[in-house]
Amino acid sequence: MGSEGLTKTKRNNKEKNKEEIIYDAIIIGGGPAGLTAGIYLSRARMNTLLIEKALPGGQAILTEIIENYPGFPHGIAGPELMQKMEEQAVRFGLKIEYGEAAEVRIKESKEDKVKMVKINNKEYKTLAIILASGAEASKLEVPGEEELRGRGVSYCATCDAPFFKHQKIVVVGGGDTAIEEALYLTKFVWEVTIIHRRDRLRATKILQERVFANKKINFTWDSVVTKILGSEKVEGILIKNKRTGEEKEISCQGVFVFVGNVPNSKLLNELIKLDKRGYILTDDNMMTSQEGIYACGDVRKKILRQVVTACGEGATAAFAAQKYIEELKGVSYK
Ligand code: NAP
Repeated sequence: MGSEGLTKTKRNNKEKNKEEIIYDAIIIGGGPAGLTAGIYLSRARMNTLLIEKALPGGQAILTEIIENYPGFPHGIAGPELMQKMEEQAVRFGLKIEYGEAAEVRIKESKEDKVKMVKINNKEYKTLAIILASGAEASKLEVPGEEELRGRGVSYCATCDAPFFKHQKIVVVGGGDTAIEEALYLTKFVWEVTIIHRRDRLRATKILQERVFANKKINFTWDSVVTKILGSEKVEGILIKNKRTGEEKEISCQGVFVFVGNVPNSKLLNELIKLDKRGYILTDDNMMTSQEGIYACGDVRKKILRQVVTACGEGATAAFAAQKYIEELKGVSYK
């Protein structure tokens, strides 16, 4: 064989080897659910890749202090907890790649169980997928919101609070996030007005006790924001009372919006079953309607969205995926 032929064969082998890497599992999303799945799969010695589009940690890294994760009697800072989870997963051998998963394909034939995930224009093959892509802040969808985003409109107090020192701001929403973030904002701002569409809060009672005791916080009940006012930056909001229909302007320099979340499930919406709000439906083992594809954490339909539930689901999804992979490889322990 001439040297050209040899090079060609080498190249072919190289390309073939490259093609032949089939991960046991690919986890999409590096929040508490994804990292926990990563810890479990790595300890089970499954060849696992975790894909994260930004920093590992998910929404929890935006939380100043997490008080209800067991084991930390005085709470733990969100970024610290998430950094520890990442460190733990990497210590057991989890590989993390940064980029956004752009496409997921499954094979047409039922016999071929290999799935494909496209990230950063590269295609990765895997036997199982765990979707732990979380959720992101819902918008108010009112005039002025998009135009003034980053110029007084914010969805993250821990990121933006220092820009509003000694100013007057409003917080929209009445859930755990709105109340926690309003309390955090009082360390920086002069006054917080919480605008809520009902006459009572949805947030956990302990947070309600704190918010009602805080002298910097006042409430406007039964009201919705209809417009955010300002040209270069936020100057105020227009609200409407849902009971009386009365409209009024509130002057403020910042609008923090915490009106729930939308699930990041678009990537798989054509392959698996979702509820009408886009949350993924799974069975008790976190398996979606598609064999070998699992979902866990905030992207999944459930009643409680917490770090602790995300971790539990991540562990369950990993364990179920491990059994599935072992079954496919014919090495399952029965
Ligand atoms: P959430 O619990 O869904 O609450 C959203 C709030 O925004 C509700 O008060 C809702 O009003 C209001 N809202 C929704 N759409 C609105 C609109 N278009 N205009 C005005 N107001 C609107 O969302 P979240 O507070 O972001 O919490 C999400 C999940 O994370 C929850 O399961 C929560 O328990 C969890 N979480 C837990 C903690 C913690 O444990 N420390 C912290 C943060 C979040 P209604 O009440 O009238 O529906």
